[in-house]
Amino acid sequence: MLRAFRFALVAVIILGLIWYLASLPGHVTLDFGSYAATAATPIAILLLAILVVILILFVSIIRALLRTPRRLAANRALFHRNSADAASLRALSAIAAGDDRTAANQARIAWQHAPDAPLTLYVAGETARRAGDHAAADANFTALAKHKDAGFLGWRGLVDYRTKLTGDAAALRDAEIQARQAATAYPHSVWLRDQRVQLAANQGQFADAARLATDPSARAALAIMASRTAASDHLAIDWAREAVRAAPGLAPAYLALYTAHQHAGHAWRAKRALLAGWKAAPHPDLAAAYLAPITVPLDRARAAQTLAAANPGHPESEALLARTALAADLAGEAQRHAALATGATGSTWVCAACDTTHADWQASCRKCGTIGSLAWVQIRPEPVATVLLPAPKPLA
Ligand SMILES: [Zn+2]
Repeated sequence: MLRAFRFALVAVIILGLIWYLASLPGHVTLDFGSYAATAATPIAILLLAILVVILILFVSIIRALLRTPRRLAANRALFHRNSADAASLRALSAIAAGDDRTAANQARIAWQHAPDAPLTLYVAGETARRAGDHAAADANFTALAKHKDAGFLGWRGLVDYRTKLTGDAAALRDAEIQARQAATAYPHSVWLRDQRVQLAANQGQFADAARLATDPSARAALAIMASRTAASDHLAIDWAREAVRAAPGLAPAYLALYTAHQHAGHAWRAKRALLAGWKAAPHPDLAAAYLAPITVPLDRARAAQTLAAANPGHPESEALLARTALAADLAGEAQRHAALATGATGSTWVCAACDTTHADWQASCRKCGTIGSLAWVQIRPEPVATVLLPAPKPLA
């Protein structure tokens, strides 16, 4: 409604103006040299208006012509960037789907369109890494690391690969330098922190790794290793205590504390560590350490009773009592405890991340490399009595 009114108003003004101009009296004469042109005033004004319009059109055409090459170049650049982005996204999808061949093809297309685009560099680096072409991967990630907004992705590509080269000291040192540079690009990255923990652990710097670790299980595992490799008894004890604090249910932590005290000559504290361990996390290794200095079977059975008293009724306690009683020829006692030891056998160390079983405790899983992932769990419940005790001798 308002628009119609405005249109009518403008039309009225223009018509008024035309009527006014058409009714203007007199003539306009133009003299140039020996020529003279005369026209009525409205016609002269109309001709002038047409001349102005032609001039404006001419200037516009010239400007458009001058701009054409730049506009064409911009259009071409936009086309290449869009094509590269589309190919990069297809490459990322293919990577996510595990289709390395398509990913490599799409990365190549992206590279043909925009070799310097950050997304192109990233997918080119990833696909080269997957194909085992580490020189090309490093070149792409190094170029990406220089990018203002995507620099961290470049560092990540460089650090991630080197951290896994556990046997290559030079690569691990490079990774450490690169990790430090990555930290400047993204100071509070959780991924980077975990990577630095892994790096320190891979370099055997367990104390450094334990200090950096935030996950209690990883911290405990690294503290145990730091205790085992400590330069002094004092440090070994401190790190073992840290391991117990971080993971109070982890038998190897108590074993580390026992070993550290034993090494420092604190026999009584060493024994206390085993008793505390048996109470919190009974494990055959703790019993083995506790009974190691005792050789006489009957004395071992008696010592086992002291240890088992720290956690009475626990299947591991009953299994220990059954084992030591049997060795001391106390068949009735052995039978009684074996009957109560249900669930104490068939346990092993299992990685919580990948389910791989391990015969003994390790700071990190041998298969997936996760630090502190091993837990003592029962994998096959078995009737203890048949495992612990020999078949009854036939009566003569
Ligand atoms: Zn694992």
